[in-house]
Amino acid sequence: MDLRQGIGPRRPGKTADEFQQDLLSNLFYRRGTTVESASARDAYETLSLTVRDRLAERRSRTAAAHFATNPRWVYYLSAEYLLGAQLEQNLLYSDTGDLAAEAVKTLGFSLEDLEELDIEPGLGNGGLGRLAACLVDSMATRDIPAVGYGIRYDFGIFHQIITEEGQTERPDDWAFHGNPWEFPAPDDRQTVGFYGHTEPIPGAQTRKRWVPGEIVLGEPSHMLVPGYGTETVNIVRLWRARGSEASFDLSRFSAGQYAEAVQEAVRAENISKVLYPDDSTELGRELRLKQQYFLVSCSLRDIIRRFRLRNEGWAEFADKTVIQLNDTHPTIAIAELMRLLVDEYELEWDEAWSITRRTFAYTCHTLLPEALETWPVHMFERLLPRHLEIIYLINMLFLKEVEARFPGDHDRVRRMSIIGEEPERRVRMAHLAVVGTEAVNGVAELHSKLLRETVLNDFAELWPAKFQNVTNGVSPRRFVKIANPRLSDLITEGLGGDDWLGDLERLAGLEALAGDASFLERWRAIKRANKVDLAAGDPDSLTDVMIKRFHEYKRQQLKLLHVIAMYHRIRADPSADWVPRTVLFAGKAAPAYHAAKEIIRLIAMIAARIAADPVVSPYLKVVFPENYNVTLAERIIPAADLSEQISLAGKEASGTGNMKLALNGALTIGTLDGANIEIRARVGAENFFLFGMDAYQAANAHQQGYSPWAYYEADGELRAALDTLRAGTFGEAGQRVAASLLGRDEYLTLADFRSYVESQDEVDRAWRDPQRWARMSVLNTAHSGFFSSDRTVSDYAARIWRVAPVPVPKEG
Ligand SMILES: *Cc1c(COP(=O)(O)O)cnc(C)c1O
Repeated sequence: MDLRQGIGPRRPGKTADEFQQDLLSNLFYRRGTTVESASARDAYETLSLTVRDRLAERRSRTAAAHFATNPRWVYYLSAEYLLGAQLEQNLLYSDTGDLAAEAVKTLGFSLEDLEELDIEPGLGNGGLGRLAACLVDSMATRDIPAVGYGIRYDFGIFHQIITEEGQTERPDDWAFHGNPWEFPAPDDRQTVGFYGHTEPIPGAQTRKRWVPGEIVLGEPSHMLVPGYGTETVNIVRLWRARGSEASFDLSRFSAGQYAEAVQEAVRAENISKVLYPDDSTELGRELRLKQQYFLVSCSLRDIIRRFRLRNEGWAEFADKTVIQLNDTHPTIAIAELMRLLVDEYELEWDEAWSITRRTFAYTCHTLLPEALETWPVHMFERLLPRHLEIIYLINMLFLKEVEARFPGDHDRVRRMSIIGEEPERRVRMAHLAVVGTEAVNGVAELHSKLLRETVLNDFAELWPAKFQNVTNGVSPRRFVKIANPRLSDLITEGLGGDDWLGDLERLAGLEALAGDASFLERWRAIKRANKVDLAAGDPDSLTDVMIKRFHEYKRQQLKLLHVIAMYHRIRADPSADWVPRTVLFAGKAAPAYHAAKEIIRLIAMIAARIAADPVVSPYLKVVFPENYNVTLAERIIPAADLSEQISLAGKEASGTGNMKLALNGALTIGTLDGANIEIRARVGAENFFLFGMDAYQAANAHQQGYSPWAYYEADGELRAALDTLRAGTFGEAGQRVAASLLGRDEYLTLADFRSYVESQDEVDRAWRDPQRWARMSVLNTAHSGFFSSDRTVSDYAARIWRVAPVPVPKEG
């Protein structure tokens, strides 16, 4: 008889009274304070615990259902998670928003007060980390047994401050006050080795012993990831590096050598100290490689531990496990799993290789050759000597396979090798990722096609079936419901229910309302109210937003040339009937990316100049809200009229900002790049402002002797804009940006200028007819249902992971 049968924890109650009681209990017993002395932070922490308890109860049922089913699991490995604020999402997903709002009043606070204190774990840079967050949300929503693995950085993406000088950075100590959403799990601690040497094992062929020179502990904690409209609660497990007990040197401490006494522990803890260590030095680069191996080593041991809880032997490992690599950052996992299977569990190489290859899948996020990660062989050799040996062996066997398929094609063998020779020997992580996985996917149709045709072409010829596309998506809960409650209410009313939040294709039902004048009127009023909330500019002006990381290929410069051209036009004819615009930029530049920071400085100067000009400022305003993060995105996106997606075609893998904006009724002006193409195909060419060359034209332009000067000479408006920059009107930043555009103009900004300005003139014409604009806006929302990350997850589940949902029973 199972003695535990029928015994379980007291379940959190469902009524307002019970919620209230739980809140007070948590205040007394877990926070250790009283109603009389509770601060806002006490109230916030206590409310978070009360909500978390409800999710934890669902988590216990989820774990029981998973344990009983012994399903195939998805393990998502990602160096970044840009999770966004937690409280509002968890209130929504536990359906306790109303209970909470009532209950916190008795502590003397409003829910809004407490939301102000909520943390945003900024454990990612941008699109890639936000994708990971949307996918774990949708995996839970689709009842897929999954764990997301990542690193618990002490400092997340830097806090950005904007002044007239441009961007400055401050550290982001995101968990300074603690993180009430997190459960530490010190019992699942892992030990990770670095450096050292390898030794042969007498009698063994491929097995070796690795004797590391440094040992670091990985301590996990997890955050709960609830599904929407379902019982499932999955987890994201984050690893934090710690020194071992032996790393504190008591005798040195006693001798007064305080810094020396802790130096070993500090060195260990540096591994999870910051999100993206500066890689301009050799030490910084090594630290980044250490982070990658740290994540991989801890996570794989945890995955194996979990597998062995339910299964014996190895025969079923690859049937029960799929590990998705989010870009190449966790790719050393392929060598690490081989090492664990061969060296530690003593499997034969061939069996281990068959398991490894069937276990992994790889998502590629780039086409930029400079973003394809490689590591110097000498660094690998020092830090991970055994892994380098394993990679050499994988490579040797792989290149034999290539030679057998393409006899005599030495050039191909050299191109495909996992080890690059020029200019120095480097490990090509993308090649390892393709060789060691069962499936490789790009993140939008065009991107997947270009991967097959260009950077991974040799591999696609060898293994055509391995290459797939899974177009990205975004969470409709976070980016519509939470970000834009007014619009969500109107959609729910228009569609007669809120099923669309879990089945976003239902938005298509809005098409029937796109001809209804009173619906369009309400739609417009909501956009206006959202602009009033954002308070970035005149709510009746066209709000034109470009929100994304600063990178030359994203072409913020093109937007600026357009701003300068508008400025000149207005000055030349101040009494004409101009469409008033608020141009909003937001985004961070990597701290060491000087050209990108120069563009931010230039925007700040142009914004100040326009604001000070009484002739132009009634029609044109440039704003730059600082510190773009998920919380700020949730405020800007609902207020946007126009979505700027103006990358050089062929450079943006997918984009997800474009999807969030279209879903919230912004019209897109964009190139045929990334997911823009799929957005345009769905919302209709007549509801999308297209401009510029396509990816094939862009790819050939430089070869065909592209000359920015020819465009400068031929286009008076462009010339005037560039001359303003060259003349120093906007300081040295302006001069340097102009010099770069008239120098090589790597991203073909000048070539697309005229087409862009003409498309913007079309934007103005559409805007002058408010009814037409509103109809186009509704149709954008109506036809963007495809871009739900729920659909993305279903695509991965069906075509790559081959996993089935495991429903979790409701409370008995
Ligand atoms: C969605 C999102 C991104 C990605 O935006 P893109 O326009 O696709 O580059 C980056 N940062 C944050 C905070 C986001 O919410």
